[in-house]
Amino acid sequence: MKSRCSPLNPSPQLHSLALFLAGKRLLRSEIPFEEALINKAIEQNFVEKVSGLQTNGQRLMCRRCGNQERSLFGVHYCTRCKQECSYCRHCLQLGKISRCQYLYIWVGQPIRYPRLKRALQWQGELSPGQRQASESVVQAIATQSELLVWAVCGAGKTEVLFHGLERAFEEGKRVLLATPRTDVVKELVPRFKKSFPEVEITALYGGSKDRHTHAQLVLATTHQAMRFYQAFDVVVIDEVDAFPFSYDKSLQYAVDQAKRPTSTMILLSATPSNTLLTKPQLTVVKIPKRYHGFPLPVPRFQWIGNWSKHVKKNQLPSKLDHWIRTYLAQKKPLLLFVPSVSTLSLMSRILLENNVMHAAVHAADPNRHEAVQAFRSGKVQLMVTTTILERGVTFADVQVAVLGAENTVFTEAALVQIAGRVGRKEEAPTGDIVFFHYGITKAMRAARTHIRQMNQEGG
Ligand SMILES: [Zn+2]
Ligand SMILES: [Zn+2]
Repeated sequence: MKSRCSPLNPSPQLHSLALFLAGKRLLRSEIPFEEALINKAIEQNFVEKVSGLQTNGQRLMCRRCGNQERSLFGVHYCTRCKQECSYCRHCLQLGKISRCQYLYIWVGQPIRYPRLKRALQWQGELSPGQRQASESVVQAIATQSELLVWAVCGAGKTEVLFHGLERAFEEGKRVLLATPRTDVVKELVPRFKKSFPEVEITALYGGSKDRHTHAQLVLATTHQAMRFYQAFDVVVIDEVDAFPFSYDKSLQYAVDQAKRPTSTMILLSATPSNTLLTKPQLTVVKIPKRYHGFPLPVPRFQWIGNWSKHVKKNQLPSKLDHWIRTYLAQKKPLLLFVPSVSTLSLMSRILLENNVMHAAVHAADPNRHEAVQAFRSGKVQLMVTTTILERGVTFADVQVAVLGAENTVFTEAALVQIAGRVGRKEEAPTGDIVFFHYGITKAMRAARTHIRQMNQEGG
């Protein structure tokens, strides 16, 4: 074999830069290597630098998050370029990117990943619905196409990915699984590590310690996905409808940038939007049945009048009070969803005054994880929450109520997801789901129809 000259046979330092930077697009401050090495890499065409904010005529576009909204750019006096300078406010969380800054991209040889034989060590069995979806996933990965897995809550969608991913790893492909919530990333990591013990796996979310960002399987929140560039052969987006503004522009941009030009995209959802369902070139496979074979619990509607007036007067609406006491007496865990943080604190106070032990959590609550843990372990029997717990969580034998189901925060998708918390475990496949309301809404009806339809399709 002929010996190759330097660009194809990089020095050890260049090699470690490649390992770090390949498949990413980063600011200089995010690259812990010396200036001289980076300049050399640019000279030798391994690295390219492009301006972070692109100008299209009058319009600015952020190359990292795709933002083009004028109101989402700030202007300040910049210490770097010593003048008034624009920066993107939309992706500020990832570090400020201003007009005078560059993004660095590795354009040399891509990293090769090992072709792993029989990487899957999972021994479980798929339900008939899962098996069909699993075959579609394998197919989508083989043909590099786009697939939506429309799976009811509790269908077991993670396992549906396993055989397809095994196939991907066998071909030395690199995989990104992006999900909207940090909690879900944390929950998925041990499951994937157990099922694919030989695959290098990394978890990326705000505050995560993982630095092996070149791992073959990356589990990340969508925000973190914005740092990648043409890196993945397979991109899986979990709960695609859960992102703010459902599959919004910046998510699409992030995913489009993170995947290789020829790649597979797999979208997972229990409640896909119509926009998504009518997306061209998208194959859809449905799992209308839960893995344990029992139908989805159908919500019942219970009118409770002007509940908010009662709550403001420090009174627990009597029907709700009855519901809580009935199940507490049966020693069942209870989830009570409320429409707002203010209702949450009012309810919490009333429950305290009535000596009902409970936990109350909302999205911005720093003690959220502890509270969820206390509920999971049975230390607390009643949990009052905003919509934060509508997805991605499983509590055995939980009974669920929504207070003020007529509120606009409870969309069809949210209500379907909330109802989907009930009866997820094989040992307790049924349970109560009640919408306490002050007037039935379209969303409530649509949610109930949605669930009944899935049950019908599931047979
Ligand atoms: Zn941006
Ligand atoms: Zn500047």
